[in-house]
Parts: sequence; C-alpha cells; structure tokens
Amino acid sequence: MKNTVQIGDIKMGHNQPVVIQSMTNTDTADIEATTAQIIELAKAGSQMVRITVNDADAAKAVPEIIKKVRSYFQKESSIPVINKALSKMPAIVGDFHFNGNFLLKNYPECAKLLDKYRINPGNADDTNFREMIEIAIMNNKVVRIGVNGGSLDNTVLDRLMEHNAQQKNPLSSDDIFVEAMVESVLNSAKTAEELGLPKNKIVVSGKVSDLDQMVKVYEKLAQQSDYALHLGLTEAGGGDAGIVASSMALGILLRQGIGDTIRVSLTPTPGMPRSREVAICKYILQGLGLRNFQPKVTSCPGCGRTTSTFFQTLAENVNKKIDQSIDCWKEKYQGVENLKIAVMGCVVNGPGESKYSDIAISLPGKMEQPMAPVYLDGKFFKNLKGDDIEEAFFVILEKYIQDRFTQ
Ligand code: SF4
Repeated sequence: MKNTVQIGDIKMGHNQPVVIQSMTNTDTADIEATTAQIIELAKAGSQMVRITVNDADAAKAVPEIIKKVRSYFQKESSIPVINKALSKMPAIVGDFHFNGNFLLKNYPECAKLLDKYRINPGNADDTNFREMIEIAIMNNKVVRIGVNGGSLDNTVLDRLMEHNAQQKNPLSSDDIFVEAMVESVLNSAKTAEELGLPKNKIVVSGKVSDLDQMVKVYEKLAQQSDYALHLGLTEAGGGDAGIVASSMALGILLRQGIGDTIRVSLTPTPGMPRSREVAICKYILQGLGLRNFQPKVTSCPGCGRTTSTFFQTLAENVNKKIDQSIDCWKEKYQGVENLKIAVMGCVVNGPGESKYSDIAISLPGKMEQPMAPVYLDGKFFKNLKGDDIEEAFFVILEKYIQDRFTQ
C-alpha cells in the first residue's frame, strides 16, 4: 500500500487527491517579488510552492517570506467573502543542491520554517546528502528525493553501462539510463531511511525531459516501491509544445493510478503569468476526472454548418464568465465545480450533446431557424432568439446554479 505523507494540512499518497505544486522563478533573496509570486501561485490553486534556496541571501530571506505569506493568508481567511479553499496557505518547499547542508546548518530558521526540503542527490555529495537528511529528521520535515536526468549521478550510469556492455543481449542505452534513474532514486531513498528518515516523510521523483523515458522511470518506481511520487516532465519547453508534452506524460501515468503530486514545468513566454503552470495542472486533473475545479464546458469545434462568429464568441464568453464568477460561485454554491455546460454550433450534435450536460445551448447553424434551444438536465427548456441570446443564456445559467447548488 502506498505511503501517506502529511505536509501541514496537505496529505498525499494512499487514496488522497493528487496535489498540485509549482515553483517560483523570482530571486528568492528578493523578498517582495518572491512573496508576491507565491501568493499568485497559491491563489491559482497551487497547494505547494517550491522556492530555490541557493545561497546565503536566499536562506536569510526564507523566514521573512514565509511570515509574509502566512500573514497574507491569515488576513484573507478572516474576510468572509473570500473562498477559503482558494485562500489556503500553501506548503513552502525549499530546493537545495550543492550547498544545502551548509545553508540548512547556518540558517536554522530557514530549516525550521520550510515545510519540506527538496534534495537532488545528483548535486549533493555524501556528506551534504547525509547532513541535509539529518537536519530534516531533527526538524521533522518531509523530504523529496528528486533525481533529475540532467544531474544524474554518473557513477551509477557508468557502472550499469559497463555491466550491460558485457551482456550477450545488451539493452539499449535509453533503457540503461532509465535503470540508472530508478536505481539512483531508490538507493538515495534507502540511504535516507537508513539515516532515520521515516518512509512517510519521503517523496521521490525521477524527472527526465524525454516523455517515453519519463513514463518508464515512474512505472518502474511505482512497481518497485511504495514511496509517494512527485510527477513531472522536466524541461518540457514552452508554449503549446510544452503543454502538450507535459499533459501527455502526466496523463499516461495518472491514468494508471501513478502519481501523488504533479508539477508542470513550462518555459515562460514573456508576459506569461507564472500561475499558468498551475492552470495546466488543473486542466490535466479535471480532464482525467481526478479532481474538479470549475464547471466543464463542452463546445464543438464548429464547421461549415456554423460560419458566423457568434457561436465562437458565445463559447469564449461562457468560459470567461466561469473564470470571473467561479470564486464567488464556490463561496455560495457547494459543488458548482461539477456543473457541465455545453455550447454547440448546430442541430447536428447540439441536442444530443445536451443530454450529457446540466445546461446546454445549441446555436442555429446555416439554413436553420434563427433560434437557440436551451436544455436543462437534458430536456428542452426554451428557445432563445433575437439580439440578446448571450445575456438571456447567462440569466438562465445563474438561475440554474442558484436552484441546484444553493446550500
Ligand atoms: S455541432 Fe454542428 S457546427 Fe458543431 S462541429 Fe458538429 S456539425 Fe459542425
């Protein structure tokens, strides 16, 4: 049975919902910028936020950052109209590499206040690794042993490569790389346990940038251990390509029940909010039916039967309305995130799709009567026509939500 790991209020592992996490890209020593970005990520739905702790200035800044984030969320939770679920203090994770032992030893407040440490064994020699684990034990902290393909310990890889070369039917170098990743993760986790870190304080990851290798690494980790697993396709790139690659990699694993916490690592495009990576995590989990965050909108792609842009505009505005209203709806209407809405372009699939939605509108395609039937709970409700179809649909939508989800 999979271990359950508890970090503050957050539980992950056996039978727990998949936890969303993210990482800041501000200079941690810049207290204001880092605090602001943690708050942005947490408000977007990131339950854990990782910050790099790479030097003395960063380690010195950590207590102040945590104090400020705490104070922000304490204030937020005292305002009744704010959705409590959205204004939860995230767990703050410190990312440590080459000098982690030095920083954790010399800045004990940083070691004490962080909720979890991420340690990359490939970037920590034996003494560094051991001392970081000992400090984690002393402070009762969870540790992620996060091996990364880009910093994999070459001694493991070289040994396996050498052994493989002597075999009659050697495996491919890709397969050996996967074996080396898995061995490195499990060896480091075992060492941490031998040093006294309990199993329920350990999360592991083996991130690589190649989708196929990444999937194989995690499948093997899931087969060979019961540690909580942090999933991520590292260095996935940016834009649509990065989103698609991450979604496929995480989707393949989550669909098999592998993975307890996820991060989507996107190269930001200028002006892109950092919280975009949190939004993608939410879409992945909702798309897989693992967690619902907001109403689902089913809309068709349109075709030659619906050449006007009205249909596209309505579909877009329904999504915008959800984004703008969701916090307020969640505050007032329990379960509203499970609502299903359909916006369809014509009579071909409109009425049929409406049967699978709570509320649906089917717009008139070319050559159809200029009216838009609305369906509630799969049954015809009324036809909308004229210039205010969108406005009238939103009135029906609000009323439906109010009637169905009022607590
Ligand atoms: S529902 Fe109608 S408009 Fe939409 S894709 Fe299908 S045929 Fe085209």
